[in-house]
Amino acid sequence: MAWCRSCERYLTPATLTSEGACPGCGSEVQQPEKVPAPAAERIPWHFWLLVGGAAVYLVWRAVQGVALLL
Ligand SMILES: [Zn+2]
Repeated sequence: MAWCRSCERYLTPATLTSEGACPGCGSEVQQPEKVPAPAAERIPWHFWLLVGGAAVYLVWRAVQGVALLL
């Protein structure tokens, strides 16, 4: 998505003119900076700590549930 500063709205690439300008005011729009970041780098480590903790908890609850049946 591109951002037009003077119109203060987002523009899809399809709505831009062939020059890449805003169709409303004709000024150059801000193109989003493409920063390719691997998914693993964007997920913080404490997220995986939380996931691991939830997994351990669910496994423990499953063990408890099975133990009740015995
Ligand atoms: Zn504009």
